[in-house]
Amino acid sequence: MYRMRRWSARHAAALHHLYDQVERGLAKIFPRLQQAGLPKTEKVILWVEKPLKQFLFDSQSCGQCTLGSTGMSCPMNCPKTLRNGPCGGVRPGGKCEVKPEMDCVWVVAWEGTRHLKPEQRALHIVQPPLDARLKGRSAWLRAAAQRAMQQKPGVQP
Ligand code: SF4
Repeated sequence: MYRMRRWSARHAAALHHLYDQVERGLAKIFPRLQQAGLPKTEKVILWVEKPLKQFLFDSQSCGQCTLGSTGMSCPMNCPKTLRNGPCGGVRPGGKCEVKPEMDCVWVVAWEGTRHLKPEQRALHIVQPPLDARLKGRSAWLRAAAQRAMQQKPGVQP
């Protein structure tokens, strides 16, 4: 829902914190999730993650969430699916070149980032190309696995 998308960017600080807590919590229990079986666990996590992200961010479930770096504005809502900054066609007033009825997702990302603490701002991070194989997978579980590996290098996803 477009209105929620804009609301989420305005409340980027609280949502960024919530995201961080979810990923931390999942990273903490990651060995137990592995024991339970990751495919089964992923289904359960997606049951919460997918509708919540769709509601708050109009998430397209790409499986490679950048929200933590993009001021809680999902770049997959860009009609050109640009993941590293805006195209050259942003209209005056910050409207999208392709869909003038909506604000450019990167203008929204900039606004959302301004609500974050300086050390949380990560708009400058270059995002890797989209991996289509991850579409529909849990970005939370993936992020938790990465955190768990950083904390205990022996942990394998
Ligand atoms: S103006 Fe922004 S949202 Fe629209 S196509 Fe360009 S980068 Fe994407």
